[in-house]
Amino acid sequence: MVGKKVIITGVPGVGKTTVVNEALKKLKNEGIEYQSINFGSFMFDVAMADGTVKDRDQMRSLDKTVQKRLQQNAAQAIAKITGNVLVDTHASVKTPKGYLAGLPEWVLHEIMPDLIVLVETDNDQVLMRRLSDETRSRDKEGSKAIAEHQQFNRAIAASYAMLTGCTIKMITNADFLLDRAADDMAAVLR
Ligand code: AMP
Ligand code: MG
Repeated sequence: MVGKKVIITGVPGVGKTTVVNEALKKLKNEGIEYQSINFGSFMFDVAMADGTVKDRDQMRSLDKTVQKRLQQNAAQAIAKITGNVLVDTHASVKTPKGYLAGLPEWVLHEIMPDLIVLVETDNDQVLMRRLSDETRSRDKEGSKAIAEHQQFNRAIAASYAMLTGCTIKMITNADFLLDRAADDMAAVLR
């Protein structure tokens, strides 16, 4: 059987990884398996090995050419993985010089997703989640900037649908409603 390729996106701190893990638990009980992959980790392994960065949150401030090279390496490695694959990544990356497409044409053509999911929630909730996450160096920005980023992600997702013919699904990961988000996620992964 040919595997499904699903890309999960959402602004930093929205809770992509949490929703994915919950959804995968539900699916496992039904005998549906996905290999879960983190795009940023593929980039980080290379960047750390050559001494470019020490922390994964430093990558988005690297020169654009360097970020794109790491991005292309990651896409090529991920394209080789067979079966049902779920890729945790970003529709766009906020760099000091503006938004960088997370899935430019050459990345999409490597991975060729069936579906792109946008995990979203209220801007204030994203802000609070970032403030309470001590494990990461999340960008310190206000809810207006977070709103802009979430809007930009919807806009750029439309172009990804045009380039690949994939479907785009928005899933809300609201406070206290993780189980609902996980159910919505599981439903599109079945
Ligand atoms: P994450 O752990 O998902 O927050 O990803 C860590 C970092 O990896 C991000 O801040 C970006 O610098 C980088 N990254 C992840 N996915 C992509 C992508 N598709 N394109 C470019 N950079 C990415
Ligand atoms: Mg994550």
